[in-house]
Amino acid sequence: MENIHSVLNGIYNKFADFEDKGQKATYIPELANVDENLFGVSLTTLNHGQINIGDAHQQFSVQSISKVLLLIMAYNVEGEKLWKRVDVEPSGAAFNSMILLELEKGIPRNPLINAGAIVIADIVFTHFKNPEDDFIKFVRRLTKDDSIDYDIKVFESEKSVGYRNYALINMMKSFGNITNTMDEVMDFYFKICSLSMNCAQLSKAFFFFANDGIDPFSKEVILTPGRNRRINAIMLLCGFYDEAGEFAYRVGLPGKSGVGGGILAILPNKYAVVVFSPKLNEKGNSYRGMAFLECLTTELSDSVF
Ligand code: GLU
Repeated sequence: MENIHSVLNGIYNKFADFEDKGQKATYIPELANVDENLFGVSLTTLNHGQINIGDAHQQFSVQSISKVLLLIMAYNVEGEKLWKRVDVEPSGAAFNSMILLELEKGIPRNPLINAGAIVIADIVFTHFKNPEDDFIKFVRRLTKDDSIDYDIKVFESEKSVGYRNYALINMMKSFGNITNTMDEVMDFYFKICSLSMNCAQLSKAFFFFANDGIDPFSKEVILTPGRNRRINAIMLLCGFYDEAGEFAYRVGLPGKSGVGGGILAILPNKYAVVVFSPKLNEKGNSYRGMAFLECLTTELSDSVF
């Protein structure tokens, strides 16, 4: 722990003055208002310790990172049947790409790209009575923090310009892969993307992925060990859009990024780490976040390989 602490601090200081060549996401107007210099890191370890550095307590828009939590809700009710409606293959395409969807008859490549998460939102919408409430309650349970909420400004902002996501759902509906009303599903999808959390809350919430699916604080089984391994595999192969290979190569951990500038990564049996730095590379992943995590796993010789 002492060692991780000093390594993390050293790397943080190194990257504090880093020449960040990324650009903030602006296609969601509200995200353009975020201070692009924010930089936070949080790491939660198996022995319950948490290290927070810089802007680790600054709330930000979680965006696609919440797709993983949504997936758990669907997977735990549907089991393996889930994979009839969404595949588990890397897409090799952008997070909001339409191209494969038509060729593959409305079955998205995986649940962590937009099309896949929209199908998952449809499934959760079918099974849960109050999906928005149930989702936020689930996140609050994982973090033990009832202050966590959706950011309505981000929600409205994304909804007002969500043309491409509406195009994706229309395409899937035409192939019969959406069962609920498209507007209801999209509102739910945009809500989960608008989830506002900070690095400290995220690294705590996702820690069970490093602990065989068990929340170490409450001992609750969030995912069975087998399912936990499968979702970790999906994160490794699909968590970074068309840069999943690059992330596996450079960082060597399963994880998930969001266009809000957050990246989460898991080292099984050891830790969950979250970096937040809003400027993104051209693939939509935090520029400084990727570099930071590469340096961290290199210095600690950490990898799932
Ligand atoms: N809400 C975003 C969208 O649908 C999520 C993108 C992301 O973080 O990958 O475009």
